[in-house]
Amino acid sequence: MKIEPILTYVRSLLAKAVMRDNIVVDATVGNGHDTVFLAKLVGKTGKVYGFDIQAQAIEQTMNRLETENLSGSVQLFQTGHEHVACYLPTEHHGQIAAAIFNLGYLPKGNKTIVTKPETTLSAIEQLLPLLKVGGILVLVVYHGHEGGAAERDALLEYVSALNQESFHVLQYAFLNQRNHPPFVLAIEKKRGQSPTTVM
Ligand code: SAM
Repeated sequence: MKIEPILTYVRSLLAKAVMRDNIVVDATVGNGHDTVFLAKLVGKTGKVYGFDIQAQAIEQTMNRLETENLSGSVQLFQTGHEHVACYLPTEHHGQIAAAIFNLGYLPKGNKTIVTKPETTLSAIEQLLPLLKVGGILVLVVYHGHEGGAAERDALLEYVSALNQESFHVLQYAFLNQRNHPPFVLAIEKKRGQSPTTVM
C-alpha cells in the first residue's frame, strides 16, 4: 500500500516535527505506545509530558517506559489534559514541538471512559499558544463509540475555523472504509499568534 495507514501517517508527521532535545506532549497516554515513540524521538535530553485520567494508563505507560529504559525523559501526570497549561513549566511555553491526542477509550480498558468534546477542546486551546512556530498538534479521531460523533463534530468545527494566517490545518482520512474509521487532524503553527478564529 502506497498511501500510509492512519497510525503510520501520524508517526511520520511526529518524526518530521520532533528532534532530539525537543519538548513534546502526549495528551492521552493510554497504553503508552505514543509516549514511548516520542521519548525515543526526543532522546535523553528532551522531555515528554504525558497525561491520562486513568491510573491503569499511567501505570501501564510507566512500565513500558521502564522496560525500554526511557523513563528519565518522561513526566506523567494522572490528570485531565484540560489542565495541561498548569502542568507545563513556563520555560517550555512556546517551545512545544508536538502534541498528540488519541481520542476515544483506552484499548482493552473501560470503554465508558472516553475523551469529551469540552475537555479536548480546552486542551487544544491551551496547547496551540504553547506550540513553537513549526510545531504540530495531531489528533487521531475515533468516533464510532457513544459520544464520539459529538466530539468529532465539535473538533471539525473548531479546527476548520482556525486562522489560516496562523495555522495549517489538515484532515487525513480514508473515505471508503467501513465502521467509522478513525481519521487524523493535524494543526501546524505557522507563526506566533493566538488561535483566534476568522470567518
Ligand atoms: N495513545 C494511547 C496508546 O498509545 O495506547 C491510546 C489512548 S486511548 C485511545 C484514550 C485515552 O484518553 C484513554 O486512556 C483515556 O483514559 C484518556 N482520557 C480520557 N479523557 C482524558 C482527559 N480528559 N485527559 C487525559 N486523558 C484522557
